[in-house]
Amino acid sequence: MSSAHHPAPAPQGSTTRFRALTPRDLDGLLQRVSLSASERLALRAVSAVLPFRTNAYVVDELIDWSAVPDDPLFRLTFPQAGMLPAPDLRRMADLLARDAPRTELLRAAHEIRMRLNPHPSGQLDANVPVHEGRRLTGLQHKYPETVLVFPRQGQTCHAYCTYCFRWPQFVGEADLRIATDDIDATTAYLRAHPEVTSALITGGDPLVMSTEVLSRYVEPLLEIDTIRSVRIGTKSLAFWPYRFTRDRDADDLLRLFERVVASGRTLALMAHVTHPRELHPPVVRQAVRRVRGTGAVIRCQGPLVAGINDSADAWAELWDETTTLGAVPYYQFVERDTGPQGYFGVPLARGHQIFRDAYARVSGLARTVRGPVMSAMPGKVCVDGVAEVAGEKVFVLHLIQARDPDLVDRPFFAAYDEGATWFTDLKPAFGASRFLPGLDAH
Ligand SMILES: *Cc1c(COP(=O)(O)O)cnc(C)c1O
Repeated sequence: MSSAHHPAPAPQGSTTRFRALTPRDLDGLLQRVSLSASERLALRAVSAVLPFRTNAYVVDELIDWSAVPDDPLFRLTFPQAGMLPAPDLRRMADLLARDAPRTELLRAAHEIRMRLNPHPSGQLDANVPVHEGRRLTGLQHKYPETVLVFPRQGQTCHAYCTYCFRWPQFVGEADLRIATDDIDATTAYLRAHPEVTSALITGGDPLVMSTEVLSRYVEPLLEIDTIRSVRIGTKSLAFWPYRFTRDRDADDLLRLFERVVASGRTLALMAHVTHPRELHPPVVRQAVRRVRGTGAVIRCQGPLVAGINDSADAWAELWDETTTLGAVPYYQFVERDTGPQGYFGVPLARGHQIFRDAYARVSGLARTVRGPVMSAMPGKVCVDGVAEVAGEKVFVLHLIQARDPDLVDRPFFAAYDEGATWFTDLKPAFGASRFLPGLDAH
């Protein structure tokens, strides 16, 4: 149906067939930029520890090479020296410079990764559900209504964001990975938990999977009456929009979306969008029209990250564009306390100022966005603002989601701290010992 209304555009050359560019391609790609030998070595050192992957569409259509290295879209997928602590960067660069054996490189990379808090907020243990005595390690069930599903075949992306909070999924260390291909166990768990109304298929990026494999995860959900919405978390709208237009099975994907909608459920494409430029290419607009033509809804979310989108201009434009395309602004996230947070993190006080300045400038239609939001151990903590209460300068916060639903939507206060970048940096205001009954500081 949608495919008939919105025919896919004609093939347009080399960028239309997907091929991943990996650390092996890094030197070649950086030929386009004037960097010193030591700068190149530093970027290779970063990509030996943190994942690097991009593709021709990102390189040719999104990045403005005349503005590199400051270009935000370059910073979005290419390594930067500051992403590793200086001593770690030196150590990796030295190993690479003297052509150290692979085992030595891997050991050093592993040690550095272990210091980068690979699984923040208890992701590997606190959120793993148990069914009939078995831990379902490819699922996360943190909030009653929603279960996250990590399909084994979807644990990569069309390109990696440099600031990725799920980076351990992509560095080839199997014990750091969250994934399942046990669809029967997933289904059994969801049937046994009727409080779960929303299944969120995530990754990596589930849309790196063929439509056929993706449908093996989606179709069984349509047999479970209590599942009312299926969400797909994806960066493909920004990093490989051809997934919805002229990939071999793009039309099949749209038909899968149509089947979900025809079953009486919501299909929500949770599009990860970081910078307004990602929405500009005509093929993205085409992709949005095709997805919306299936009856699916597109909701856009992304983190606030230093050097990429840390300005009110960027966010106001992003929310305006999102709304103009008929998509819905959802969350503005705070960069999580993992990996290169020290490089990309923006203090909560400044982050809220950016949020507010942008929010004040957009139409009410775009004010569906919530933020800045920290996905922290107790739940999704929203920074509502800064206020003065009884002579003390405080952050006003609330939980949008919580492990303990009783804590949702209760205002609480933290002592103002200009440098705080994460929930764990905050202390209760007014000398209190906790934020709320049942919500402790660290
Ligand atoms: C954000 C999140 C969800 C979904 O929360 P919504 O507010 O419904 O979008 C579910 N599980 C986890 C672990 C999350 O971080």
